[in-house]
Amino acid sequence: MSTDSSRPAPTLAIVVPCYNEEEILAESCAELLQQLNRLEHSGKVARGSKIYLVDDGSRDDTWPLMQKIARRESQVVSVRLSRNKGHQNALHAGLSQTVEEAVVSIDADLQDGAENIEPMVDHYLQGSEVVYGVRSERHTDTFFKRFTAEGYYRVMHKLGVDLVFNHADFRLLSRRALDALLEYPEANLFLRGMVRELGFESSQVEYRRRERTAGESKYPLRRMLSLAWRGITSFSTAPLRAITVLGLVSSALSFAVIAWVLITRLFTDNAVPGWASILLPLLFIGSVQLLCLGVIGEYIAKLFEEVKQRPKYHIDQVVGAETADIEKREKEAAVVAD
Ligand code: UDP
Ligand code: MG
Repeated sequence: MSTDSSRPAPTLAIVVPCYNEEEILAESCAELLQQLNRLEHSGKVARGSKIYLVDDGSRDDTWPLMQKIARRESQVVSVRLSRNKGHQNALHAGLSQTVEEAVVSIDADLQDGAENIEPMVDHYLQGSEVVYGVRSERHTDTFFKRFTAEGYYRVMHKLGVDLVFNHADFRLLSRRALDALLEYPEANLFLRGMVRELGFESSQVEYRRRERTAGESKYPLRRMLSLAWRGITSFSTAPLRAITVLGLVSSALSFAVIAWVLITRLFTDNAVPGWASILLPLLFIGSVQLLCLGVIGEYIAKLFEEVKQRPKYHIDQVVGAETADIEKREKEAAVVAD
């Protein structure tokens, strides 16, 4: 976090994806409003800040409730998706609706603690474009969830995917970072990986995660596994590369065995009739097939990279543009004079 730049208080948007959250929504919304008003009063965020509630195609009374809240509270905007599209899509939809200068995303159950928004804003004021909420420990998780989650971060790291350890989707993005994120056209969203991909100046806020106070987790094991798998397949082609390596190793091994079969067949009496003629093509075809699959995999990996059409870079800063311009103009003038 840089200490030199401190910027004016931003308008803040808090984006909350909700799926079947009727039991908790009113309470959570009241708490967020209270935090927002406090931040406005303290002058850390500008007036006109908003809360965006996104209904991810809930089947309970979440949407009627959201409409009621939005009509009552001028600071609340409620957005509804046409159907259930999952947490990542709902969050993206909410983010894309905002116009504010800084945006915080938080789950409807406020397990991440609405009070942690303030330190995030502090980091923003100090110059961070991205502030990651990072869980300092996982005592509210079951042993199974803790074990699998931490193992997952390790595997992702090994596969070359850059993730912030113990960071999920509680974060602050500046308008610049958010606009950059919204340029990613990919359909398979894994936001925590994409935000990391952006770059820009970032910092972290540590917090202890609370228990869910009402309702149950909307992330059953099946959805968790699907998100985990999406994280790997959207960010890494390592599994495809593994096929190539496997193909190379098995080819090398089978050529060694082929040599042994030939020697046994030609120079000894140990070969049973038919043995060599079965074994040779089997080994040869098997290894060549695997190698070819690997090569095809390499091309699929390239296609996969291209098809995503991700922006190749985001410009963070331009320094000295005026000087370069003056030099260029001077050169042009010199050419004309010649
Ligand atoms: N959620 C959503 N769509 C879904 C599933 C979940 O918008 O299809 C929201 C949910 O309402 C909550 C957030 O995603 O605001 C995180 O879900 P949850 O708290 O159930 O996950 P957990 O904390 O158990 O990982
Ligand atoms: Mg939760």
